[in-house]
Amino acid sequence: MTMQSINPATGELQAEFDTWDAETLDQVVTQAGYMFADWSKLTPIEDRCMMVRRVADVLRDDMEPLAELITLEMGKSINEARAEIEKCAVCCEFYADNGPSFLADEMVETDASKSYVAYLPMGVVLAVMPWNFPFWQVFRFAAPALIAGNIALLKHASNVPQCALAMEEVFRKAGFPDQIFSTLMIGSDQVEQVIRHPAVKAVTLTGSETAGRKVASIAGAELKKTVLELGGSDAFIVLDSADMKAAVQGAVTGRFMNMGQSCIASKRFIVDQTIANDFIEQFKQAIEEKFVAGDPLDEATTLAPMARQDLLDELHQQVMDSVALGAEIVTGGYQLDRPGCYYAPTILTNVSSNMPAYNEELFGPVAIVIKASEPAHALGIANGIDLGLAGSIWTNDLSTAETMARGMESGATFVNNFSFSDPRMPFGGVKNSGYGRELSHHGIREFTNIKSIWIK
Ligand code: NAP
Repeated sequence: MTMQSINPATGELQAEFDTWDAETLDQVVTQAGYMFADWSKLTPIEDRCMMVRRVADVLRDDMEPLAELITLEMGKSINEARAEIEKCAVCCEFYADNGPSFLADEMVETDASKSYVAYLPMGVVLAVMPWNFPFWQVFRFAAPALIAGNIALLKHASNVPQCALAMEEVFRKAGFPDQIFSTLMIGSDQVEQVIRHPAVKAVTLTGSETAGRKVASIAGAELKKTVLELGGSDAFIVLDSADMKAAVQGAVTGRFMNMGQSCIASKRFIVDQTIANDFIEQFKQAIEEKFVAGDPLDEATTLAPMARQDLLDELHQQVMDSVALGAEIVTGGYQLDRPGCYYAPTILTNVSSNMPAYNEELFGPVAIVIKASEPAHALGIANGIDLGLAGSIWTNDLSTAETMARGMESGATFVNNFSFSDPRMPFGGVKNSGYGRELSHHGIREFTNIKSIWIK
């Protein structure tokens, strides 16, 4: 099998890689297992932190080539790619600063003369990662996991092999010994072999629900821990007291950042019926003014391509199937007539619960607007699907907002802001959006043995 790196802006094949055979894969995973004792026991946490801090320096030093690689491989605009690299550097620094205190022993008063909780590393952790934030998704797992003393194996999405190899190089440049962070050049059909390998102790997957279920079932059969960061179709609720201008600006960024290919993007805009038409009109105007297609390497470009043609086709099919069932296109709804995977930013209204646009994740630049009669109705619509990552609520009534935020079935809720991730706050989902948490002190403890030590 081969993995291809294709420029989504042009369709041009940039590089091709053979996937590893089973024997090579086994050797690399076995070797990773051998490294665990050295890394976790002989390399003090201060040294691990120092190396992760150097990773931040390498990322910033190599910002331009790394950002360019992201853009060439999965299509996001160069400005967004640079921001992604910077965010990875910030995450590395955050864990280098805070990792030791997050993992410090916690003394507990009991009947013992000394008793405490220790956070000890688990071993080799496999990370199965998606292409949409090809660096960020990996670093938000790897920085804390490595500082905790684990070994990281990366199985990246097949369309970003150059990013995957570049990350391994970043760790090498930062002074990491070989095999502490390794990129596995494998397809998804080889993931099972890795999960079942005795050296591998846990798995984290960021990706689709289908992949999450598959990986979790294999890991479950092996009794290995999993963290799953899966899809979302998060609500963006606009109540009648909202600052309309701010809500519209938030909607544009919240939905169309990364060309809509973000798990926590706002996807369902649930708007109070008294202001819905005004919101739709301003939302339409804002996106028609803002987005102009161009070369994503050009800083002036505001409309970049989606990552792959098959993903665009799938999105367009969801739009067309919904239209066939009665949805109305306010703007967009088509692929741009130019080379590359460019899809016009789209708004759909008249969306009802029998349509794919209502029930399924729309992983691209398509927003749906649903009208609600009152806050309770809006929250009911928000909670009425099987996904829940990070919703948002727009209103000047902060008391109502906070009550609704607590009632929203999601891993996070933002009031008067679109959703985003921040290393200081935990990140993850409920329902079919997954389980477990990344980031903050919760994230670094996911791949630890939370151990009780009791001394009489
Ligand atoms: P995907 O198709 O599930 O791929 C994600 C990763 O899983 C890739 O490395 C893929 O490898 C691998 N994979 C796919 N099927 C597999 C299987 N049966 N067994 C083992 N591994 C498998 O998802 P995607 O299209 O790249 O990403 C989009 C999805 O990810 C969306 O649903 C999005 O919401 C979700 N996502 C969630 C988060 C979060 O934090 N919650 C963040 C970003 C994205 P190949 O590439 O080789 O197939």
